[in-house]
Amino acid sequence: MTRFEKLGFIGLGAMGKPMVTHLAHKLPPASRIWVYDVLQPVVDDLCEEFPERVLKCANAKEVAEHVDTIVTMVPEGAHVRSVYLDPEHGVCSADISNRLVIDCSTIDTATSLAVKDHIAQNFPSASFYDSPVSGGVVGAIKGTIAFFLGCAESDPNVEHLIHLMRLMGKEVIPCGGPSLGLAAKLSNNYLSGVIAIACSEAFDMGMRSGLDPRTLAKVYAAGTAQNTICDKFCPVPNVYPDAPSSGGWKQGFKVQLMRKDFGLAVDMAKRVGSHNVLGDVGLETYDRAANDPRCRDLDSRVVYRYLGGQEDWQTQHNGA
Ligand code: NAD
Repeated sequence: MTRFEKLGFIGLGAMGKPMVTHLAHKLPPASRIWVYDVLQPVVDDLCEEFPERVLKCANAKEVAEHVDTIVTMVPEGAHVRSVYLDPEHGVCSADISNRLVIDCSTIDTATSLAVKDHIAQNFPSASFYDSPVSGGVVGAIKGTIAFFLGCAESDPNVEHLIHLMRLMGKEVIPCGGPSLGLAAKLSNNYLSGVIAIACSEAFDMGMRSGLDPRTLAKVYAAGTAQNTICDKFCPVPNVYPDAPSSGGWKQGFKVQLMRKDFGLAVDMAKRVGSHNVLGDVGLETYDRAANDPRCRDLDSRVVYRYLGGQEDWQTQHNGA
């Protein structure tokens, strides 16, 4: 697979850096990775860690000039536009004919399609895919993230793409066509965000009625309310020891990122004419939680704290 001998990676943040680290460890010895981030220290760190294997570039255009496959992982749609479409330093200011281009950022579908269209018009032999990920920073470090790939299972590049993504993660799900990886990701995060709010409220009403949250967790797990947020990401601290809440919500998926993804999902729903009653109230809840100094920068299940859930319940149910 000659294409992975010259790989480019742009955006070396909380997710991008561990993804590049997996590639640097697992690609064949002849492969080189050209990288760029607007923050110089993170580029220098990676190049020092993998001398000769990871090579620094001055901008996105320079990355594109060196490689045949480009992966991008930046925060928002505006960053994706700038990385690809900046007339002086963007990926598309290089000749990217025949390149395989994969954007893993979680952004709005309209921006993704606009970049795809621009590439299709200017470089018809290049292929652009959306492929957002799930599994968080811990998953990126462990190499267990899932990719939601915006293409059909019959796409001619699908095997090649899956091979590359499995070097950084575990599951790769082709979602059917362009921008559908993003639509799947936003739909998933909407559902996960709504469940976290519902879970927090359900625990709170049960606990205020006198129930031990450990009993409630067993009830939900045995009943029709069973879900992963309750089981593994329980918003109430110290019910499930490995849940972010049990560590003070310090590790996990930041509430600001949930606010961003929830907002993108609500916008998408409006654009496609999908009626929802929970969207606006959910968005307002995450917006306020993201701006609450008691919650900001913490795992999104801190919405339990934002909603006034009891955190020191163990003093009441001690030994129960
Ligand atoms: P981050 O802010 O930690 O990293 C983003 C990196 O992109 C930064 O290093 C930043 O300097 C760089 N960047 C920004 N603009 C750039 C530009 N124009 N050119 C080059 N580099 C640029 O963000 P992250 O947590 O790594 O998230 C990246 C994407 O992955 C987001 O869309 C996010 O929603 C998604 N995501 C994040 C998580 C998570 O748990 N952090 C989980 C799943 C998906």
